[in-house]
Amino acid sequence: MNQLPWHAEHWARLQARRQRDALPHALLICGMAGLGKREFAQRFVQGLLCQQSVDGDACRHCRSCLLFAAGTHPDLVSLSFGLRKDGVQRSEIVVDQIRELSARLAMSSQFGGWQVALIDPADAMNAAAANALLKTLEEPSAQTMLILLADAPWRMPPTIRSRCQRIEFHLPAEADALAWLQAEGVRDAAAALNAAGGNPGLARVWTQEGALDRRMEVRKDLTALAAGRGQPLEVVKRWLDSEPAQRLWFAAQAAADEIKTRATAGSGPLASALDVEALGHWYNAANRTRESLRGPLRGDLLLLELLAQWR
Ligand SMILES: [Zn+2]
Repeated sequence: MNQLPWHAEHWARLQARRQRDALPHALLICGMAGLGKREFAQRFVQGLLCQQSVDGDACRHCRSCLLFAAGTHPDLVSLSFGLRKDGVQRSEIVVDQIRELSARLAMSSQFGGWQVALIDPADAMNAAAANALLKTLEEPSAQTMLILLADAPWRMPPTIRSRCQRIEFHLPAEADALAWLQAEGVRDAAAALNAAGGNPGLARVWTQEGALDRRMEVRKDLTALAAGRGQPLEVVKRWLDSEPAQRLWFAAQAAADEIKTRATAGSGPLASALDVEALGHWYNAANRTRESLRGPLRGDLLLLELLAQWR
């Protein structure tokens, strides 16, 4: 991936702090998925650990860089979902992991420089884990850096957030996003960017895995259902079979487009019988359903309930 243009400002500010010897002990790197938070964090950490970095970027051939590339740098701890005793991957970060991390950070650095801990996704810490991390944040040792990555920082306790220097990525300007997509060789960049709601990283991934076809299919399904054609049960099955969350995003987007087009052209492309207010409710319901898919309720029932309100 080439350098992301919307990272430049955050990068420059962070490196200026580094040069003033004013780096914080904890960074919270947040913003929606698809904007390159992970790449930013990796670049920063590698540059921090590098023994001869230039303008904050790693040299890529010193001993530290080689260990980093091999994933075995002794002064870097990366924390993500661990395994349960039965070998199944957990869906949250638990307190034992944080305790282990704090113990590692309490030891001295092998290279005599920074010790870095990366927690990703930090918004997946459970309450006990967050509590344990708070102690580490309250008593930072010199030359230690905690880096928290989160798509949804609001899920983390405010006490944690307030102790971190926040770096937040927002959607870039459309022209920047389009230029980057074109440089990445994405065909039909404008359509992809539109489908992804202006998120260039998402647009790139989606064009690689057929999301634009799925988007068209969702619109066709909604049009057919609005006309009284098509079987809701059959649509539910198809949506659940592949990328249901993405399909619901496209469904909500289609409802929003219907509202917009109606305001200018009188009728929308889906020919929905819902009035503008009902379309607005349905848009919200589609987004709520998308969130609920992660929960314990049955996806087929949630989807069926949503489609029953569509006409
Ligand atoms: Zn290096």
